[in-house]
Amino acid sequence: MKAFYAEEQKRHDPKAFLSSGASQPNPEKPERIERLLAGARSAGCPIERPRDHGLGPVSAVHTPEYLDFLEHIFERWQRIDGASAEVIPNIHPIARTGSYPASAVGQAGYHMADTACPISRETWQSALWSAWSAVEAAETVMAGAPAAYALCRPPGHHAFADVAGGFCFINNSAVAAQVLRKQAARVAILDVDLHHGNGTQGIFYARPDVLTVSLHADPVRFYPFFWGHADERGEGTGLGYNFNLPLPRKSADAAFLEALGVAFQRIRSFSPDALVVALGLDAFEGDPFGGLSVTTPGFSRIGEAIAKLGLPTVIVQEGGYLCDELGDNLTAFLTGFGGKAR
Ligand SMILES: [Zn+2]
Repeated sequence: MKAFYAEEQKRHDPKAFLSSGASQPNPEKPERIERLLAGARSAGCPIERPRDHGLGPVSAVHTPEYLDFLEHIFERWQRIDGASAEVIPNIHPIARTGSYPASAVGQAGYHMADTACPISRETWQSALWSAWSAVEAAETVMAGAPAAYALCRPPGHHAFADVAGGFCFINNSAVAAQVLRKQAARVAILDVDLHHGNGTQGIFYARPDVLTVSLHADPVRFYPFFWGHADERGEGTGLGYNFNLPLPRKSADAAFLEALGVAFQRIRSFSPDALVVALGLDAFEGDPFGGLSVTTPGFSRIGEAIAKLGLPTVIVQEGGYLCDELGDNLTAFLTGFGGKAR
């Protein structure tokens, strides 16, 4: 299958984030791209550059004020005396009210969920190109390819319609799903990242046309804490179209594949016309986040199992952090998947 990626995606290079209150090197490094590119090449994927798709597909899932914030906040931040080099929030609304602040500091708190998504001069362009890789992969599948892979970095699944968070700015999986909706009456998103896809859930929570399913480490003791529980099922006409499968910490291949089987039952009963896989590789046993214990051969079996759904599939890269096996895990997934569908 084809893979999509643009050089501009490397420019975003966040320096730090707070972990348990301590400043740590930000793990969402540009080097991830090199490992993932190598992994995609090993799986036999030709790498292609996406086209510039403009703001249309991004504004289909994000609010105008949020996109304006992402584009301009870095410049505005530089005009504040004594401000940090990267945009990092220090105040948040506990609950949203009707008021929208005019100040850069207020807007940073309004639009950024946590400190893991610092914004620098290059962030906006990198995030846009990352989203355009997802758009290109979705259009490739709409043109008849059985599957395509978008090497999206920065990742996207923690970004809501108007909030960045957890290394994410533009929700690439949601963008891909919304593009697919031009042809597909129903689209399912299956998120296998270690962390709950809270932004994706939020974007589609009240909609019955996009089913969101997420397997992840139980948020009762794990990021993103406030979302990802089994009782979050959607709202309004979207009630029943969100499905969370929280897993106990350190769950390994057998437990993950069993939960995947439960996810497939829900997806089959939804009868989607296309699938987006939000492919986090951080469920790996050797990932620095250490939440679950999926093995490299496990990713191959996961890919194979998903391919058996037989749906036109856009695979969107989410998490998965620097460790020796990062590229191998992508190769394993894509090879497992492609054994059926490439
Ligand atoms: Zn993750």
